[in-house]
Amino acid sequence: MTGKVMAHWYPAYVGLGSNLQGPARQLENTFDLLNAIPKTRLIRRSSLYRSAPFGGIEQPDFVNAVAALLTQLSAMDLLKELQRIESLRGRERGDPRWGPRVLDLDLLVYSDQKIAEPSLIVPHPGIGVRNFVLLPLAEIAAELTVPGLGRCASIDVNLAEPRISRIG
Ligand code: ATP
Ligand code: CA
Ligand code: CA
Repeated sequence: MTGKVMAHWYPAYVGLGSNLQGPARQLENTFDLLNAIPKTRLIRRSSLYRSAPFGGIEQPDFVNAVAALLTQLSAMDLLKELQRIESLRGRERGDPRWGPRVLDLDLLVYSDQKIAEPSLIVPHPGIGVRNFVLLPLAEIAAELTVPGLGRCASIDVNLAEPRISRIG
């Protein structure tokens, strides 16, 4: 076969979180870094939300948001790019899970794929239980179908979780 194969653009949703070193500014900078990932475009970003920390470690509140991307990268290659950005912003690998961090980037949804590798679970299991993931995702993608969970706007909020507030 000759000719150029048209690369496919996949929709992907990324959860952003920070609770160190100016969290709101960290996230604003991160939107630009996401748009600069090779073969990838930032197409929408949510408002910023403030949420109480999760997991029992005493630490500052988090600022959270969600970004919608279109990408030609595979889910695994996109995850590597997200981890590269975390490192660039000073995230130390080996930090405790759910501990304080300058930047956390989770791949929430990648196209209609379900992935269950040791290093990559998609859709991210937090979507159905964490309001700080669900609410910004619903803000920018209410009609999105999350594989296994259904239409984003129809997923129940977790009433057991502390309320989160939109900060801009
Ligand atoms: P959680 O995943 O519960 O939000 P966390 O973000 O604190 O916790 P990390 O320490 O950032 O967890 O990441 C631990 C590992 O999770 C990473 O090394 C990565 O390989 C793996 N991982 C699995 N699925 C995903 C995903 N969808 N997005 C990002 N990382 C993932
Ligand atoms: Ca996370
Ligand atoms: Ca993470």
